Amino acid sequence: MAEKRKKSRLLELFKTLNENFGKMYWWPADSLDEMVIGAILTQNTSWKNVEKAISVLKKDNMDNFETILSLDKNLLESLIRPAGFYRQKAERLKTAARFFLKNRFVDRDMLLSLNGIGKETADSILLYGFNKPVFVVDAYTKRILTRHKIITNSDYDSVQQLFHDNLSKSVKLFNQYHALIVKTAKLYCKKKPICDKCPLLSDLIDNKISPLAIMRPLHNKKL
Ligand code: SF4
Repeated sequence: MAEKRKKSRLLELFKTLNENFGKMYWWPADSLDEMVIGAILTQNTSWKNVEKAISVLKKDNMDNFETILSLDKNLLESLIRPAGFYRQKAERLKTAARFFLKNRFVDRDMLLSLNGIGKETADSILLYGFNKPVFVVDAYTKRILTRHKIITNSDYDSVQQLFHDNLSKSVKLFNQYHALIVKTAKLYCKKKPICDKCPLLSDLIDNKISPLAIMRPLHNKKL
């Protein structure tokens, strides 16, 4: 697809979703500590489970790096159990807490050097925790762009580059766009998509992509 066309489609998708859903007010956290804790807890689990774990921590003011670091490991594991993979995540939370208590200014390489922090988590922390203009790519982003034939290569860096090259590098825009993608995927662009109810149906039609072919599950097992 011509570069100019990609740019206008990315902008159009944003406009449509923004008009449809309005401001998303992400990230849902009251502090940097809580944001980072949420970004780690949300790995491989639903946000609903993360909320349960965070509300347990918040109840006794334990949603901060100092407390996370000082807590007994077994106790921390039991507190965050609702978020799943609790042993691994307790370890990661302690590593992150130790790191952020030492470093209040961070960059991507520093974050990526931490155990259990991959590109998506690092970029989420940079965008939502530190207001850095980096686009967060997740499985939902790849799924929607693949189904809309905007990408054929779903490698993290290429997808991120697509947004960086075609949109103005704005924290506000990237914040809202990623949140809108998550909302769309959760409501409509599920494993079994509901294109006929989705606000992005118009983009499929405008670009002569058959929603019926997308909705036919046999051909879309990997998405
Ligand atoms: S549900 Fe269909 S129209 Fe909506 S984003 Fe997914 S593929 Fe596009």
